[in-house]
Amino acid sequence: MPGTGILNLYREFLPVTESTPLITLGEGATPLVRSAQLSKLVECEDLFFKLEGSNPTGSFKDRGMVVAFAKAIEEHSTGAICASTGNTSASAAAYGARFNLPVIVVVPSGGISSSKLAQVRAHQAKIISVRGNFDEALSMVQRIAKEQSITIVNSVNQYRLEGQKTGAFEIIDQLGFSPDYIALPVGNAGNILSYWMGFSEYMHRGLVKSLPKMMGFQAEGASPIVENRPVENPVTIASAIRIGNPVNWEGALTSVKESKGVIEAVTDAEIVDACSKMASLEGIFCELASAASVAGILKLYKAGWNFQGKRVVCIITGSGLKQPDMTEHMRLSNIVEIPATFEALQSAIFESRSE
Ligand SMILES: *Cc1c(COP(=O)(O)O)cnc(C)c1O
Repeated sequence: MPGTGILNLYREFLPVTESTPLITLGEGATPLVRSAQLSKLVECEDLFFKLEGSNPTGSFKDRGMVVAFAKAIEEHSTGAICASTGNTSASAAAYGARFNLPVIVVVPSGGISSSKLAQVRAHQAKIISVRGNFDEALSMVQRIAKEQSITIVNSVNQYRLEGQKTGAFEIIDQLGFSPDYIALPVGNAGNILSYWMGFSEYMHRGLVKSLPKMMGFQAEGASPIVENRPVENPVTIASAIRIGNPVNWEGALTSVKESKGVIEAVTDAEIVDACSKMASLEGIFCELASAASVAGILKLYKAGWNFQGKRVVCIITGSGLKQPDMTEHMRLSNIVEIPATFEALQSAIFESRSE
């Protein structure tokens, strides 16, 4: 039954015990939508978008958060804390509100979009804004969590990874087979590792016959894994992947190596272009970070990759509504302002047509 949540649906694959509450806000069961135009652009057999922005708080983070909160409740935790570039905090705040666990959110000052901040505040989480970047915020949060026995719900929390792997299960359940490639943005690198865990587990249990290649894409100004060294001051327009020292660095490398995939960087310009193409050609308004997956596939195609006969799934990690302030960088249609007369409307329609 849809809406029962991933803990209930995939409990046999998750760390669910007799005393784990099967809580849900309706996460998971997100659409897998076939591409209309971009599949032709890269000449592949099929291209699908896994719309993770359809999760309750607008990003894939809810899949991991529901498991992290279920275990925190089971373990009688007194509260949850996270450092966040936005979506983790929005998700934690929502689950905290719903399931009565106080949440503290530590964000890099000025580094989080207004709508993500609005979500956190609406859910009444305590917000602390640090004059520093995400990596600095996270290392302080890790220390506090250790010293004060507050549950950390960043992706250092293994339960987050366990929950996020259900995205891989769903893709196979929806398609009936494994795609050839999974493309996704890489920030703290929890998701790429989670997906690989999920696919491998289904393979192990005989539920699928082949495995996809994991294609991770970082933003060029925040691409420590690609450059093989931490980036002290990561810069990219895509705030959700503005991370210079990913916690799951090793896990990401293992996923890519074992699956014979790649990890590459895409520029901000390529991300913005892919985001605009998603909106204008596919009708999908996604977060800039999410568009890194599409930008990556477009880039590989341009570099000579042959996708003929291949099936690709791009993980669209978050909704475009998450960063309305960023749309100004995208290709946008004009706004024509007119007086409130029928004639003005008529001429505005016909004039803009003939332009
Ligand atoms: C968190 C996030 C990412 C990065 O995922 P990681 O697991 O940190 O690599 C990408 N896109 C969006 C929208 C996110 O919220």
